[in-house]
Amino acid sequence: MGRIRVLPDQVANKIAAGEVVERPASVVKELLENSLDAQATSFRIEIETGGRRLIRITDDGCGMLRDDAMLAFERHATSKLRDVKDLQSIATLGFRGEALPSIASVSRLVLETRSAEEATGARVEIAGGKMLRSEEAALAPGTTITVRDLFFNVPARKKFLRSEQTELAHIASLVTHYSLAHPDKTFRLLSGAGELLHVTPVATLRERVFQVFGSGALDELVDLGVCEKQLLLPRPSVPPSEAIAEFQREPEEASTKVFRLSGFVSRPQVQKANRNSIFIFVNGRLIRDRLLLHALSSAYYNLMPHAAFPFALLFLECDYDEVDVNVHPSKTEVRFRHQSFFHDFVRDAIRGRLIVSRPAPAFAVSPSAQPAAQMPYSEFSQMVENEALLDAPPSEPAPFAPQAEAVAEGAGAAEMDPAAPEFHLRPPRAPEPRFDFSDAIAVAPQPPPAGLRLRVPETHGEFPAESLPATASLSALSDLRPLGQIHNSFIIAAGRDGLWIIDQHVAHERILFEKVLKQRAAGNVEVQRLLMPLILQLTAEQQIEFARIADELESMGFEAEPFGNRTVAVKAAPAAIGPADLEKVLFEVLEIAEGELRGVSLDDVRRGIAASIACRAAIKVNMRLDQNKMEWLLRSLAATDCPMSCPHGRPIALQYSMREILRAFHRI
Ligand code: ADP
Ligand code: MG
Repeated sequence: MGRIRVLPDQVANKIAAGEVVERPASVVKELLENSLDAQATSFRIEIETGGRRLIRITDDGCGMLRDDAMLAFERHATSKLRDVKDLQSIATLGFRGEALPSIASVSRLVLETRSAEEATGARVEIAGGKMLRSEEAALAPGTTITVRDLFFNVPARKKFLRSEQTELAHIASLVTHYSLAHPDKTFRLLSGAGELLHVTPVATLRERVFQVFGSGALDELVDLGVCEKQLLLPRPSVPPSEAIAEFQREPEEASTKVFRLSGFVSRPQVQKANRNSIFIFVNGRLIRDRLLLHALSSAYYNLMPHAAFPFALLFLECDYDEVDVNVHPSKTEVRFRHQSFFHDFVRDAIRGRLIVSRPAPAFAVSPSAQPAAQMPYSEFSQMVENEALLDAPPSEPAPFAPQAEAVAEGAGAAEMDPAAPEFHLRPPRAPEPRFDFSDAIAVAPQPPPAGLRLRVPETHGEFPAESLPATASLSALSDLRPLGQIHNSFIIAAGRDGLWIIDQHVAHERILFEKVLKQRAAGNVEVQRLLMPLILQLTAEQQIEFARIADELESMGFEAEPFGNRTVAVKAAPAAIGPADLEKVLFEVLEIAEGELRGVSLDDVRRGIAASIACRAAIKVNMRLDQNKMEWLLRSLAATDCPMSCPHGRPIALQYSMREILRAFHRI
């Protein structure tokens, strides 16, 4: 008796229908998922001409019984699903029974498979959906599927394929990320004569990240560890998909569900221009989901500029019935039963880890990534690419362009140095992507040939490299010794773990930002009354926004009243803002409320107001600071919750670690 069965119509009709084979990478995805479902531990993927000429996947999984080999090419033939009930709780990556027939209808396909239960295997050949041959064959247990000449009989589809290199990049990204989801398995990706990826089993995700991206990458990432949250369900809940809504479930007891998140996210300073480096797996399935993408950006709120994106490798686990995967034919979109719980869990877990680990941005990365990792691109990323382009910031002038009006104001204890050249910091924007391995291979330092290596004289001494901290934490800030300033703008400081450069303006900005929010929470904001009320003329839209955030403005220390049509009179303001800045701050706040934060919570508006106040009141660049002031600044920064980025997401402190210094001086 075979394992594969054709699904009855009433089940087949409930499966999200549609085309799955769009490009070579979708073939690889379906075949790889089948191999994973077959419990394989080793995957060999061979590609020729970006997958147009050849895609071959060999696995060591359970294989198919001889009787099943032909049946697998029937529509809706699957071993993974029996009845409608199974659709509610899908544990396998596949379930539609459509991938093999779809692929076989647009290519020349050969299936070679043997189950360990049988002495011989089967070879099936199909071209353009027509069965050419089916025979018994002597084979090793496992399955090999060879797909040649994709779309040979569908010229229209072939026209839409992109360049060989692009199609290969999609495949490489896909295989790379599946290899990250399964550190305990072997993946080998070959294209033409070259090997793009080869990873052997390791015990942890951390080791797999190291295998795939090289040592430099781990320094750029924060390990999320394992975060868990429980959800108490008092009542039986509604099935998530309409497709199964009519199915009546047994009454349930109150139950507790556990949600788990693990993986890696980048330090806030690793900023990418689009979402191509975000990979989210839910129960082992690579998905693209707006809800989770939003949770991720919320986690970086105030830590990263609005238009920048992190690198993220997230693995979520939950009960199978918490997530409906039967939403979209390619199975990359899902629906969560408890959406907002899921969203907040992911956001809070990531943000919590970012804040606790206080990762310090380093100067240099020395990646030694696998070739496949230099193609951080996938079919999933394309879906949001256009959107990301819309988000992209306008091009900016060169950083640190000298500007005449960059004069220090509100200086407190600081004094101006008239001799110093003046600098103006550019506004926050998404910097060039750093966590990009596109030139990783080219820049990886090559050791000199053995015979040429010079002996280091004994007097230079050895440094015990093992005693160095692996990843610097900003908790070290409070122990730093300030040595002076560069250009009266950046503090240079020495610490046990290396050399630090701290941007004085954004450091102070972070300190003030948290102070303002704390005062607001405690209800003891320092307020100053204005001698003359400030009259502001608003546009109609600004007036609406003003009304929306009026209460919040008041709690932050602004006292403002309507003063005729589209005019408000400001009578008091937070003490931190000088009168000259008040108007700018208010218009800035209205712009935040109007623009990027529209529709989001007042909580975010509050942070926007605090950020604006902090920016105006903070020490500026081009300002000399005495020793006490520098020490105070570092101590206060160390005491903040989040010393790694300013409220607009710019980095505050850069660290040149002892390890990097020693490496640069060739001492290790
Ligand atoms: P689905 O994965 O949705 O079941 P497919 O068309 O992808 O549908 O595959 C049909 C069936 O063929 C699977 O249910 C499985 O039984 C069998 N199969 C496909 N690939 C493999 C493989 N690599 N190893 C073992 N069995 C496989
Ligand atoms: Mg499948």
